[in-house]
Amino acid sequence: MRFMTGINLVSLPIANLCIFSLPIFIALSVFSLARQPPTLRFSLTVASIFAFSFGVLALTMHDKHLPGIYTSAINGALYLYAALQIIRKTRPHNAVVWSMHGFCLLLASTLFIRAAILCAGWLSPGSALDAIGPELTAIVLFGNMLCLDALILCFPLLDFMDAQSRLSQATQEIIERSKIDVLTGAYNRSHMQSRLHHHVSRCSSSGETFSLILFDLDHFKAINDTYGHVIGDRVLAQVGSQVKSSLRRYDELFRFGGEEFLVILPDTDANHACDIAERLRQEIANLLFDGPNISEQFRITSSFGIASTTKATRSADILLQQTDAALYKAKAQGRNMVCV
Ligand code: GH3
Ligand code: MG
Ligand code: MG
Repeated sequence: MRFMTGINLVSLPIANLCIFSLPIFIALSVFSLARQPPTLRFSLTVASIFAFSFGVLALTMHDKHLPGIYTSAINGALYLYAALQIIRKTRPHNAVVWSMHGFCLLLASTLFIRAAILCAGWLSPGSALDAIGPELTAIVLFGNMLCLDALILCFPLLDFMDAQSRLSQATQEIIERSKIDVLTGAYNRSHMQSRLHHHVSRCSSSGETFSLILFDLDHFKAINDTYGHVIGDRVLAQVGSQVKSSLRRYDELFRFGGEEFLVILPDTDANHACDIAERLRQEIANLLFDGPNISEQFRITSSFGIASTTKATRSADILLQQTDAALYKAKAQGRNMVCV
């Protein structure tokens, strides 16, 4: 426009304000990546810089050096600000983030160099530096444009890396959820199989002794028949939560099916497992459940079967059969008890 219309308000102050908007957009993109809206202070500062710069450039636009010196210095300062924001707001600090930081610093440096060359020409007009000033600043501006292109290319790369890390977090969350029984909060049957195989293989390789507790709520069908399935569900949820909170950090509770639960007790022999089962039996028996009417409260009991590994334990199925047989024994002997 300067070639076509000469220097006027559009071809100089407004054109230079457009140049300022580049580092401002870089900073806004960083805010957007960090999911933080720009602050009011930021918006007011940008508006003040633009208004002030328009005034300065409008007053000095016919000078050979001053608009260039002013524009380069302010533009360099804005890129320094963008470099700072990239480090402050972007996590983690990977190679792309450091490259963007470096490109912004390079952009700021090229602009400060341009300001210095123009300044030298302004201070000693007609000097050799003043004479080659336009060529020198053109070279510096070319470097500036290369850095800007490289910087802008980093944004989609960073966005892609961010999307990839969120995707892997979401995948991990889905994997964790797929192991859980939503009603009781215990692990589900498919996760139980893999944990059992894990413990059995550890048992045969390193001789780990572990125990299983299988327990079943007594006469649970009668609870459903008397109070309804919604209350029955609440009973299962409350039992699951009570047992989970009562177990040790490394014990694992699984919903075996219906109203039956399995506990894996790592590094635990049969005697110790009996003590734990007896404690769980009493805790479940002490739970008080609300019926459909608040005035109607009830309790339930449960029966427990226990089995522990021996040197001969080779398969999870055999251990489960032993636990199941012990549970049947508890049921047959009158329920609400622990059998081995
Ligand atoms: P026992 O003392 O011999 O174990 O008697 P029981 O009534 O507990 O055993 P039975 O196998 O006859 O009945 C189990 C009941 O558990 C029947 C079934 O409707 C109920 N049940 C299984 N899963 C759920 C569930 O997710 N929610 C509810 N509310 N009930 C369930
Ligand atoms: Mg049952
Ligand atoms: Mg039952």
